Amino acid sequence: MKRLGKNHGRYYGETIDIHAVLRDTEAAAKTHGWTSEIFHETGEFKWLALHRSPLSTIQSRPSSRLYISAGIHGDEPAAPLAALKLLQQNQWPNDAEIFLLPCLNPVGYTHNTRENEDGVDLNRDYRHPQTASTRAHIAWLKRQPKFDLYFCLHEDWESHGFYLYEQNPDDKPSFADKIITAVKPVCPVDLSENIEGREAQGGIIRPNIAPAERPQWPEAVWLLVQKARQGYTLEAPSDFELPVRVDALVTAVNAAVNF
Ligand SMILES: [Zn+2]
Repeated sequence: MKRLGKNHGRYYGETIDIHAVLRDTEAAAKTHGWTSEIFHETGEFKWLALHRSPLSTIQSRPSSRLYISAGIHGDEPAAPLAALKLLQQNQWPNDAEIFLLPCLNPVGYTHNTRENEDGVDLNRDYRHPQTASTRAHIAWLKRQPKFDLYFCLHEDWESHGFYLYEQNPDDKPSFADKIITAVKPVCPVDLSENIEGREAQGGIIRPNIAPAERPQWPEAVWLLVQKARQGYTLEAPSDFELPVRVDALVTAVNAAVNF
């Protein structure tokens, strides 16, 4: 699988019609019996939170609650496309309760920019939120129960392949190796020993984060502090063909969820 060589200093690959993607997303959610809540709105966009109730519960254990978010960076088209594909596939464990936020920065997609319309990187806005959309997202999150597992879907324009960040402070059974093994046949994995300035091994980064010491929080840190004790930030390499990256993200989520 060859790199496209398009990304110089930023993402220069294919873009998407986010209005159309979100229309399809809402339709797929409706088809499969999900409910849809609007937690923030501007003239042009509605911010959606989709919810699937467990189809059946096993009495001996509580249903697992999964949180999946996509599209916080508007120059990462594979993320909302992967959210859409996961909805269309509709392959979830019967007892899973799922909260899916298909696009956290729709306006960014209309400009193909990482940031929102005011130049704010929303994925740094979770400690002292400045933007209305992040405030609304956090308010929505606070109304939800705790999650067992979170997934934040991303892309990296300069990476050599797929990689992930794992947060697992309580040392629960890890899904990291499972995810990498599943993704390898569909998308190259970044085997660099250093990715984004952090130590990496076989496409896995396990950053030691001290939230109190970080002036700016990404969504994942907020989730870890407030809502979930295990989660994965998934990074597809956006210098490869778009369908490959979508496949990588979908395969990664499925590897952890449908085991
Ligand atoms: Zn990103």
